[in-house]
Amino acid sequence: MLIQTTLLAISIFSTNSPNYIEPLQLILSSHLILATCSALILPYLLASNTEHTLSSLANTDTLSQLLNRRGFFTKSKEALSDPKNIDKNVSVILLDIDFFKRVNDQFGHEAGDHAIKWISHFIKEQFLNVGISARIGGEEFAILLPDYTLSAAKRDAELLRKNISTQAFYHENQHIKLSVSAGVSNAINGNATIKELLAYADKRLYLAKETGRDKVVTFDEKNLLTKS
Ligand code: GH3
Ligand code: MG
Ligand code: MG
Repeated sequence: MLIQTTLLAISIFSTNSPNYIEPLQLILSSHLILATCSALILPYLLASNTEHTLSSLANTDTLSQLLNRRGFFTKSKEALSDPKNIDKNVSVILLDIDFFKRVNDQFGHEAGDHAIKWISHFIKEQFLNVGISARIGGEEFAILLPDYTLSAAKRDAELLRKNISTQAFYHENQHIKLSVSAGVSNAINGNATIKELLAYADKRLYLAKETGRDKVVTFDEKNLLTKS
């Protein structure tokens, strides 16, 4: 642009130099327009990119790379209010690692962190395209399935539970036995909020814990507690 401006100045002020004025004026003005647009658009692009990065950081759990509690509620509310999910069957799986305190106590906190990542990997793999998965607490995970019947959610929760308890987990060459318990809730979208669905699932998770762990509970089995 500097050269173009110099040539333009020479053309204007010198009488015997070739006439570059018209083409140079055109090129220079198009460059000026481009430079001005870039100067105006660039800060906007940078700001929106920064905003996107910040929002993604605020909603992501750094250890598991799943959504965190905040992200789970934000994304779930979005999914439940999406017109395409109105009147659909919506299910929630709430998952908690069994006797996790023992893992930390016996093998160390690093082993515990590794176990959280290992379990998160199964969750991601199984639910990436069908649900919203999050680590909503220390060793607690939630999965919202916006178009899932109770029996489909039970089937998938069972599959997840089975994978975790049957596949060997190793930390620094030590085999660590892991299992999870899960509670599953279901409603027709619109009849329950995400908070209510989680509360129902939590009640069932409690039953799974109380009645032996390494299991999935899908309804409030009245005599489940007395049976064990
Ligand atoms: P239960 O089967 O009843 O769920 O027993 P539990 O031992 O899993 O449950 P409890 O609530 O007693 O212990 C949870 C443990 O999870 C305690 C806490 O130290 C551990 N924990 C929570 N967050 C993390 C984490 O980010 N990393 C590690 N390594 N441990 C964590
Ligand atoms: Mg636990
Ligand atoms: Mg817990």
